[in-house]
Amino acid sequence: MNTHLKNDYDVIVVGGGASGMIAAGRAAERGKRVLVLEKNKALGEKLKISGGGRCNVTNAEENTRVMLPSYGSAEKFLYSPFTKFGVKETFEFFASHGLPLVIEAHKRAFPKTQKAFDVFLVLEKYMNDGGVDVKAGSAVTKIIGSNGQIEKVVVGKTEYTAESYIFATGGVSHPETGSTGDGFGWLKNLGLDVQDPTPTLVPIAVNDKWVKKLTGISLDPARVTFFLDGMRSFVVKGRILFTHFGLSGPTILNASSKIADILHEGEVTALIDLFPNTDHGTLDKQLIEFFDANKNKSLKTCFKAFAPDGMSEAILSQLDTVDPLVKVHSLKKEDRKELIQLMKSMPINIDGLMGNDMAIVSDGGLMISEVESKTMKVKKYDNLYVTGDLLNIRRPSGGFSLQLCWTSGYVAGENC
Ligand SMILES: Cc1cc2nc3c(=O)[nH]c(=O)nc-3n(C[C@H](O)[C@H](O)[C@H](O)COP(=O)(O)OP(=O)(O)OC[C@H]3O[C@@H](n4cnc5c(N)ncnc54)[C@H](O)[C@@H]3O)c2cc1C
Repeated sequence: MNTHLKNDYDVIVVGGGASGMIAAGRAAERGKRVLVLEKNKALGEKLKISGGGRCNVTNAEENTRVMLPSYGSAEKFLYSPFTKFGVKETFEFFASHGLPLVIEAHKRAFPKTQKAFDVFLVLEKYMNDGGVDVKAGSAVTKIIGSNGQIEKVVVGKTEYTAESYIFATGGVSHPETGSTGDGFGWLKNLGLDVQDPTPTLVPIAVNDKWVKKLTGISLDPARVTFFLDGMRSFVVKGRILFTHFGLSGPTILNASSKIADILHEGEVTALIDLFPNTDHGTLDKQLIEFFDANKNKSLKTCFKAFAPDGMSEAILSQLDTVDPLVKVHSLKKEDRKELIQLMKSMPINIDGLMGNDMAIVSDGGLMISEVESKTMKVKKYDNLYVTGDLLNIRRPSGGFSLQLCWTSGYVAGENC
């Protein structure tokens, strides 16, 4: 085995994603000799596809007390690291490296150039300026540690040693970018408390009142068309289930990672077609015939038999210009047309994903009770630091994940 001299480096960063790159850059800026070991041929593959290629770098909430509740139970844990490198520092960091950020809807901040690749270039230069040694195509296969110390990391037949180690190998979402959950296994083997990653098949949260009224009702099939900032994004068809928080059922669960992806890019809305196998014209004809046969009944009474089971009230509640007690023979043509339009496209606003709180990153990771928040050092190991998606911290979409990477990465680089 080819063993390098003891402490060839001051710091070894395993994983060259967003958090690993900023950690390496900061450590090098402090004069440390830093090595980044990255499995892929290129660094930052997930960063380059983030935010649909535009990269939602952070959420522009500079008031830490307002920002931190978004991280749920990690709020208190993050207070100290955010005081050292929070949203304000993120804005300053990118601006001072020639990439100012601009703020869009919901405080989502993007690079002015609208290119995730430019965010990567800033970090690459930050590392280069500090003289960070990068070994791409180097998958760490083994970690050796005992007595509260990491001793070495192994890449194939080569061992590398350093005074400090930063694990930044990410989670398990989008494994094609290199995040295959290796760090979870290492941390477990080191005797640390790691929550297993859970699959990101999660229901969606919807705030529209009419959806909540339908709790327990399922529709099979329905067609759901998703829109990103008003532009058609993708369509799914199959069984959906209305719940007290929004929508579930196999069709929704299977689409959840796609929904999560577009939630990172902007406002997501959807239209539900309650009669996906019947076109507008045919449905209108059927409704005319049905109303003809029930002329003297009120709309409210007779529509029950036409609408999908249990859904008539919810549909009529969306038709605010029409009195549900009107006799169907006096229902105006334009109102009937609107009713058809509604049944073919009931509108909903997607609030986010349930379960892992909208995060498109995998759930799970190192429990924060194992980590010193001031430094990102693992309590039981004197020379091990952990950053980014490896930490078990839930957060919503909107720049919160990458902010966590900048904060935890910078603080680890500052203290290692
Ligand atoms: C499609 C998509 C869009 C997103 N958009 C946004 C967004 O706009 N805003 C936002 O805030 N968040 C977004 N996120 C989440 C954000 O990208 C992640 O939270 C962030 O990239 C995680 O960074 P990380 O440094 O923790 O890990 P990663 O970026 O996952 O990096 C881990 C690195 O470690 C390497 N590695 C793994 N195992 C080994 C090993 N054994 N040896 C050596 N190297 C290894 C991997 O190859 C990888 O390069 C998005 C995520 C996805 C998937």
